[in-house]
Amino acid sequence: MNKRGHVLNGLLLGVGVGFILAPAGDVGTLRTIVAVAVPITLGALVPDIDTEFGRHRKTLHNLPVLGLFIAFPAVFSNLHYVWIGVLTHYVLDMVGSKRGIALFYPYTQEYGFPTGVATKSEYTNLVTLFITGSELLVGSAIVYGLGWYGWPLTPLPA
Ligand SMILES: [Zn+2]
Repeated sequence: MNKRGHVLNGLLLGVGVGFILAPAGDVGTLRTIVAVAVPITLGALVPDIDTEFGRHRKTLHNLPVLGLFIAFPAVFSNLHYVWIGVLTHYVLDMVGSKRGIALFYPYTQEYGFPTGVATKSEYTNLVTLFITGSELLVGSAIVYGLGWYGWPLTPLPA
């Protein structure tokens, strides 16, 4: 997926996650949207740094790197929600575009789904919107269905 797709995905997820965590639709919702949209969008841009440093879709497109972003806020109380951007970047690359990613790098086998469209295709935005909506449904199910609110998201101060 291209940068436009990852930013669109990150911003829309920010709005969606804001409503999942603070569904009232009031000032608290707006505050939560801002609080989560920025780190999620930043995180969504992180994996493609490996186009300049390392090997693209390998060095920063793998589960150990995602694990570091999930663990960091718990250990250092900082960078909350950035991991969501990293995770959804992987999902968008794997599900929304033709080439897979090396999830278990340094093992270089790339994994993807046969659902992707070319990154320059006219359907790219549509695919991004569909995947973003699906991610928010899964997120809602996790937060409300499994009662996972608080881990590893860490509740925002009221
Ligand atoms: Zn990527």
